[in-house]
Amino acid sequence: MNRRHLIGGLVAAPLVLRFSQARADGAYVFPLGVASGDPAPDGFVLWTRLAIDPVAPDGLGGMGGPAAVRWEVAADEAFRRIVAAGDVAADRTSAHSVHVEIEGLTPDRPYWYRFTSLGQQSPVGRARTAPAPDADIDRLRLAVASCSNWESGYFSAYGHMADEAPDLTLFLGDYIYEYTRTAAQSANVVRPYGLEEATTLAGYRNRYALHRTDADLQRLHAAAPCLAVWDDHEVHDDYSGVWSKTPGVTPNDFLRRRAAGYQAFYEAMPIRRTRLDARLQMPIHRSVRYGRLAQFFMLDGRQYRSRQACSDGPNGGKGQVITDAACLDRLDPARTFLGFEQERWLYEGLARSDARWNILGQNLVMAGLRFGNGDAETRYWTDTWDGFPVARDRMTEALVTLRPRNPVVLSGDYHSFWTNDVKRVSADPSSQTVATEFVGTSISSSGPPHEALMAQMPENPQIKFFDSRVRGYVSIDVERDRMSTRYRTISDVRDPRATVSTLNSWVVEDGRPGAVAA
Ligand code: FE
Ligand code: CA
Repeated sequence: MNRRHLIGGLVAAPLVLRFSQARADGAYVFPLGVASGDPAPDGFVLWTRLAIDPVAPDGLGGMGGPAAVRWEVAADEAFRRIVAAGDVAADRTSAHSVHVEIEGLTPDRPYWYRFTSLGQQSPVGRARTAPAPDADIDRLRLAVASCSNWESGYFSAYGHMADEAPDLTLFLGDYIYEYTRTAAQSANVVRPYGLEEATTLAGYRNRYALHRTDADLQRLHAAAPCLAVWDDHEVHDDYSGVWSKTPGVTPNDFLRRRAAGYQAFYEAMPIRRTRLDARLQMPIHRSVRYGRLAQFFMLDGRQYRSRQACSDGPNGGKGQVITDAACLDRLDPARTFLGFEQERWLYEGLARSDARWNILGQNLVMAGLRFGNGDAETRYWTDTWDGFPVARDRMTEALVTLRPRNPVVLSGDYHSFWTNDVKRVSADPSSQTVATEFVGTSISSSGPPHEALMAQMPENPQIKFFDSRVRGYVSIDVERDRMSTRYRTISDVRDPRATVSTLNSWVVEDGRPGAVAA
């Protein structure tokens, strides 16, 4: 029996004894760093996870029994003035992850936090409370990320995001990837996982743990609170609702895998308490207010979706580029993207919002992309909002009817920068512009073929800019009268010390949907 089992076997001991028995034997128990998220005017969520062997095969980080974790929040970086503190237990049921929902703090100011456990202290993180709901703040700096594939390269983009000292970081999905490239695909591997494809709770836990050993990502999480939502690769490529893309995998089978992915996401992310319900659903959509300046609607565009359009065809449940003649299913008004419950929640929130800027943070391109092929037929990639055009147009009609001020959509997934006008009618690029969309490129994942996509741009006047050749992130300053957006690109994804530069910049003026080049 090894030490891990021995420690795990001490659960019958009294609580205090058990805590004293969980030992790290000198190994550092905070190799995964710290994080904060979901800010409110009086607090935020603090996160850490104890581990001494981050990718131990059982997914438990080499930890045994429960351990007490002390948390402290200070008003200053040197922890001279500690304003809140407490103890929580970390144990195997959540892989020794810790979520503390802090309340009672002062709005709109920085705080510093740290954890102590097993005689050791974590790195210090910096969080920030949101402004009071009626505060008339004049600036908010955002850094927006998506698609960080460990194998594809280094996370220097995350490090540069940290350097910008944003008030808030947004993660829009594909924070991890579940698959591992085969030996035949190894030419594309910059740094191997050393892990098999994640399909189980242990597998997903280890994916997140491995990412959190990255110094750049750790630094970003320690620098600012975040709002995180998922896309497909937090579970499995191209899944849609309860349906796997893999033919023969039933929703019942797939739901078990999805639940493992969702549980690991909750454990790894600094988000407020949520849990798998009896249907194995785990709600993560939420709204966060930043004074009178901004209201964020963080959306879940995976969990409640209808099946991929035309899944009965030869492509199974994968997304596909397909014509309407070949796939009438796409146009079925019964298809849902957000699920009807989340959709109703969003419209109610948009109707109530009196914020200057109403920011939809979500996974997939909304403005649409029509593929021509030299013939009269138009094709659509069915994994994005383009696979759900009736739901998509319901959203744009809601924006027209409910008139939230300055709707801006922030999206990920496509590993490329896009500046888009979101048109009222998806099939009609000459229809009214109802929102602005910025799609951020990937932190590290490889982009789609640039020239082939550029060849489609004449069919897509709603897309004002496109570039899939670069990796990076989006940096945004939200002010009362304008939103200024910079596309930040790193010099080389294969270089762990890549430099950063601005590819170009965009401005959205208050009251005028659609970005213009700055
Ligand atoms: Fe991706
Ligand atoms: Ca994706």
